[in-house]
Amino acid sequence: MPGDARLSPPIRRSLDAGLLLHTECVKVNSMKTIMEALLAAQQIELQSTKTTPAQQSELARLRGLVPAPILGHYDRLIVRGKKGVALLRNGVCCECHMRLPIGEVASLTIANEVHLCSSCGRYLVLAPQEPATPVETGPVKRTRIVRPRKKSVA
Ligand SMILES: [Zn+2]
Repeated sequence: MPGDARLSPPIRRSLDAGLLLHTECVKVNSMKTIMEALLAAQQIELQSTKTTPAQQSELARLRGLVPAPILGHYDRLIVRGKKGVALLRNGVCCECHMRLPIGEVASLTIANEVHLCSSCGRYLVLAPQEPATPVETGPVKRTRIVRPRKKSVA
């Protein structure tokens, strides 16, 4: 588009961010992208036995993002009915519930490399941070009150 260069920096930035979402597979895949693709592929593969054609093509696209050696290890876990990718939440592997050394967790957040859970051998993906929700570590006072439902019979 002509006049593109005249856009103010904040607008350009948001344009770039939007563009990034659509061209992620064109770019050289970072390990984070690969692992997220693998996680998404796993979610399709581990659901019920039936997948829609749309899911099949999405699965093919996601697997296309993942280098063969990584896909190979992942598939070995999947064929055994296991998950190939585990979320790492609060430093704990969500599949085997092993707590990772803090240094390893830190390197996982910054380093662009593959991490396997040293306990269960699954690929580790950092779970999305949810700062608003209280984490399950430690005693958490539950404030949610379950109200008895009033039956309104019309
Ligand atoms: Zn594990």
